[in-house]
Formats: sequence, structure tokens, C-alpha cells
Amino acid sequence: MSELRWHPLLGEWVATATHRQGRTFLPPADFCPLCPTRPGGFPTEVPEAEYDIAVFENRFPSLESDPPEPAIEATELYPVRPGQGVCEVILFSPRHNSTLAQEPVEQIHKLVLVWTDRFRELGALPFVDYVFEFENKGEANGVTLHHPHGQIYAYPFVPPRVARELEQSLAHHSKTGRCLVCDIVAEERADGRRIVASNSSFVAYIPFFARYPYEVHISSARHIQALTDMDEREGRDLAEILKAVLAAFDKLFDLAFPYMMVLHQRPTDGGVYDHYHFHIEFYPPLRTATKLKYLAGSETGAGLFINDTLAEEKAAELRGHIIPVEWRERGDGP
Ligand SMILES: [Zn+2]
Ligand SMILES: [Zn+2]
Ligand SMILES: [Zn+2]
Repeated sequence: MSELRWHPLLGEWVATATHRQGRTFLPPADFCPLCPTRPGGFPTEVPEAEYDIAVFENRFPSLESDPPEPAIEATELYPVRPGQGVCEVILFSPRHNSTLAQEPVEQIHKLVLVWTDRFRELGALPFVDYVFEFENKGEANGVTLHHPHGQIYAYPFVPPRVARELEQSLAHHSKTGRCLVCDIVAEERADGRRIVASNSSFVAYIPFFARYPYEVHISSARHIQALTDMDEREGRDLAEILKAVLAAFDKLFDLAFPYMMVLHQRPTDGGVYDHYHFHIEFYPPLRTATKLKYLAGSETGAGLFINDTLAEEKAAELRGHIIPVEWRERGDGP
């Protein structure tokens, strides 16, 4: 059902997952498979009556831990391999009509802890070389279920987009002896115009090189490679800056702002990646309240992104919507 086919022109894998055609598509709220099962109601993906954050295997996975042999034979030009990996769904909240942006910072902190846990656990599997945690939000991004949730793909190889970042980071390190993201953060801080928010452990900015109008990056102030390298304080600071950025996104156009949010962490293939630096990237498709940025010929066919806005202006706009984040209880934290 799922297999990986080699793309010889790009030198990368393509996953085929034909069974995904039958996915549940925007069901009415009463039949949401991600809501807690109601007493006497139909059983959802989550059998317990209550949950806070839940993780389960995707029912329509692109990759499986025990995949069938590919149905098609490989040739020398066209290698094929089983689609081995893990696809999980992570429910951010039991509240159907909520979004991550609307959840309290305490809930976002719990998500940070669950992300950390899943990175550690999936990354320890022998066939997993990369754990990719992300959220697609909004119908503009092809989301088929409204209930607030994200996904985790555990890949049997380092995916090409991350491999490119690793190569660039290594090249920069060989040339300068410094970390590329540390240098980016230092330059963004020195300039200041593109900074959106910051706290003692993280900084959010629309980078100089943004490809999307509201492409926010959140980078750790400390040179760390993954969520598992964070201490308690950094976990709370990450939740806080996420809450601040997500809330500001929603205020931009007074709507639930669509985006893709991706976590870029080190591979889990046993290699050494001291030159890499953990960060989160957002790719929001909106240019204005009603206009979408489409990936058109230049972006898709040539790889040249055309951003018709300036990061300096968009960062100032977003910064104007940042408000302090209130914790209901800070526990024994800072
Ligand atoms: Zn729901
Ligand atoms: Zn660094
Ligand atoms: Zn990145």
C-alpha cells in the first residue's frame, strides 16, 4: 500500500500511499473522530471519555513500522523500498472548536513536553533516522479535520529539506568555526527590524531571507540541537513564545490564521550533528486577509520563491500584535 520510489532527477524519495484517498474529509462536529468518545456516542479515535493531549498512530499512514514489500519491482534506474516509518497524530486539546493559538500557555507547555517525549521515543527506533513534528492548520493547507491536532512523521532517512540545512550548517561551520543559526540569530538581534518577540531562551523573527510574507522562525538562544536538549526553563519559554506568536498571527486579520508549523531538529540516525541548531519555522499561506500566496511556476518548477513583501515591514506589523503571555500557575518554574 505504501512504498518509496526514487526520483532520479532530484535524488530523493517519493512516498506513494494510495490508501490515503479514503481519508475522512471535514466531517460535521458531531462526527469528529478526534473528539473524546461521548457516553453512548460512536467510538472515536480516542476511547477514553476524557483526554488532555493524546497521541495515536495515524489510521491513514504514509509510512508504516511493518510495511509490505513494494508491489512494484525496482529497476536500476528506479529503486523502490518499503515505506517504513511511523505516522502519528497528536491531539492538542479535547476542545473541538479550539486552536493551538486559543489554548492557554499551560496547554502549549504540555504539548512541548509531549513533542519532546515523542522525539525521544520515535528517534530511538532502529529504523527511524529523522523525527519530523509539524502542524498543518487551516483548509488553505489541505487540512481535512478541524479538531486542533498536529502530526509526527518518523522517516527511515533524513528528508531532503533538512539534509540541505544540515549541509549548509556544516559548510558554514567548516568555513567560520561557528554555527549558522547562532550567526543568523546574532545578525537578526543586531539589526532588530525583523525581530517579532523574544524571551530569555528563544527569539522569534521573520528572517532576512523569508520566502513567505509571515514566515516566522523561532530559534533557541542556546546552541542546542533538539527538544530533548532543553531544560525546564527553556520548555516553558518555548511554550510562552509560541503562544505569543500564535496569538499575534490570529490578530493580524482577525481570523484563525492558517499556517504550516515545522520543527527542525537533528537527525536520530546516530550521527553527530553538533553543528546544527534547533528551530521552528512557520509557512503561512496568507498574504492578506483574503489573498493566498500560491506556490506557482517559479516556486514549484524552478525553486525560486518570490516574496512580494519585505520581512522588515511584516515583522513590524506582527510585532505590533504581540502581548505578554499570562501563566495561570507557574509551578516551580521561573
Ligand atoms: Zn473534534
Ligand atoms: Zn547554534
Ligand atoms: Zn529550518
